[in-house]
Amino acid sequence: MTDILSLIRQVPNYPKEGILFYDITTALEDPIGLKTIMDTFIAQFKDQKIDKVIGTEARGFIFAPTLAYALGAGFVPVRKPNKLPSVTIGVNYALEYGTDRLEIHADAIQAGERVLIVDDLLATGGTAHAVTQLVSQLGGETVGFGFLLELDGLGGREKLAGFDCYSMITVP
Ligand code: 5GP
Repeated sequence: MTDILSLIRQVPNYPKEGILFYDITTALEDPIGLKTIMDTFIAQFKDQKIDKVIGTEARGFIFAPTLAYALGAGFVPVRKPNKLPSVTIGVNYALEYGTDRLEIHADAIQAGERVLIVDDLLATGGTAHAVTQLVSQLGGETVGFGFLLELDGLGGREKLAGFDCYSMITVP
């Protein structure tokens, strides 16, 4: 398989001093990289009878619609506050400093639907955990999570314990 990690640019001190940022745009602009990523996600989830694939703003939007299309599922965006036009529900979650909020349309998931949550990167798991709270508030079932990259040792996998959590690449 193509070495996807080698296609991901690592940017020191972004967005602030001391942070090493994994820039996935370089893997996406490589045709073989993009194909390998999408084919691998599709193979991972094709037999799981997914009804809806959620992409979390913003980089989850890159993978989720294509994956949903390939799985015969619907795509649902989870967005930052006040971006969705109709009736929403929301959840506040803790960041390292302060809190953030994510919202979903209240009618986007039906009771009993099987939902897959997709994002580019798993770090502390705070974002993904917040999204699964939205799913359960709407009566959906989180079937699993799909990440391109997992940063090991930040507690994300532990935070999502009990869920099927797939990461294409894990970085120590
Ligand atoms: P968590 O909530 O698991 O701590 O952080 C994951 C979220 O932060 C994801 O939505 C992801 O897009 C973003 N994120 C944090 N660090 C990085 C990074 O180094 N590269 C990318 N592409 N996204 C990051």
